Amino acid sequence: MKKNNDENTNILSIKNDVLQAIHGANSASELNKIYNAYLGKNGVLRNLLRSIGDIPAEKRPGYAKEIHNVIAAIENSLRDKEGVFLENNIQTTDKGLDITMPGIKIKNGHLHPLTLIERRIEHIFSSLGFGVVEGPEVEDEWHNFDALNIPKNHPARDMWDTFWLRSKQKISNSKKQIPSPRLLLRTHTSPVQIRYMEMHEPPFRIIVPGKVYRFEATDASHELQFNQVEGLMVGKDISVANFKYIIGVFFERFFGTKINVRLRASYFPFTEPSFEVDINCLFCSGKGCSTCGHSGWLEMGGAGMVHSEVFNAVKYDLKLVQGFAFGFGLERFAMMKYRIPDIRLFNSGDIRLSQQF
Ligand SMILES: [Zn+2]
Repeated sequence: MKKNNDENTNILSIKNDVLQAIHGANSASELNKIYNAYLGKNGVLRNLLRSIGDIPAEKRPGYAKEIHNVIAAIENSLRDKEGVFLENNIQTTDKGLDITMPGIKIKNGHLHPLTLIERRIEHIFSSLGFGVVEGPEVEDEWHNFDALNIPKNHPARDMWDTFWLRSKQKISNSKKQIPSPRLLLRTHTSPVQIRYMEMHEPPFRIIVPGKVYRFEATDASHELQFNQVEGLMVGKDISVANFKYIIGVFFERFFGTKINVRLRASYFPFTEPSFEVDINCLFCSGKGCSTCGHSGWLEMGGAGMVHSEVFNAVKYDLKLVQGFAFGFGLERFAMMKYRIPDIRLFNSGDIRLSQQF
C-alpha cells in the first residue's frame, strides 16, 4: 500500500512539474521539448506505462488510470498554451516581429493554353448572341453517326476511326430485353447538335466546345484526344451569307487583325453544301510562306448548311427551318496563336508549357 502511495505521489509531482513548465513556456518550440520529454516515444510518462509490469497485478489498473489521467491533463494544458501562442503568434515567435521582412509571395498558377483559347472563343461567340452548350463524351451510335446522316456501312464512317466501348448492360423492359445502344467515345462534337435540337425549337444559335476522340496514330499534328468547337445556327432563313459574316467577325476578333475568309467546296455527310473554311495566312499576309504551303491561305475548319436528313432526324419541318453548322479544332487555333509546334505538347503534362501563358 505504501509503495502504491509513493508511486502516486511520484506521478502527481511529475504532473505538477510539467504543468508548471508549460505555464512558463515562452515559445512553441519549448512546448515541443516538453512534449517530447514527457509524452514522446521515450518520454517519462511513456516509460512509466511501460514499467507497469513491475508492480503487483491488483494495483496495475488503478496505477495505469492515474498515469492516463496525468497524460490527459498535460495534453490539455499543452493544447491551451498552443492556442495562446497561435493567437499571439506575432509577439511570441522565437524571433519576434520584424515588420520590414518581405512578405511570402503567393505563386499564381497558369491556365493551360487550350483553356485560354476556349474561353476566348466562348467570349467572342457569346457577344454575338451564341449560347454555350455541352454534351456527353461517351455517346451512342445514333447521336454520333446515324442522326448526322452517317448510317451503318456508309463509306463516310471510314472518315472517323473510332473507340467503341464494350457494354454488357441491357435496358430492361417488362416484357422483353432491348439491347442497349452501342457506345463509343464521340468522334466529334456534332452529336451535341442533335441532342440540342431534340430538346429545343428554332430559332437558336449555339456553340459546343469539348473533347473528342479518334483512334489514330499520333504525330506532331494528330492526337487520340483533342478539342473541337462546334457551331450551329438555325432559323427561318439563315444562309451561307450569315455564316460568312459571323465567322469573319469571329476571326477578326480572335486574331485581332483584318482577316479574309474563303469558303471552298467540300464534303461532309451532315451538311449540304459543305465548305472548308480558309483564312488568309497570318504569317505572310497572303503572300505565300512555308506555313501556308505558299498558297497564302490557312485551312481553319469545316462548315456548311445543315443537311435535310439531319433536320429529319430531329423532326424539324424542312419548310420552316434552315441553318448552318461549323466545326474547328481548338488545338489548331492554339498552335497558330501561340506558335506551338507539336500537338502532343498539350497533353504532355509538362508544366513548362502552361507557365509560358
Ligand atoms: Zn503564309
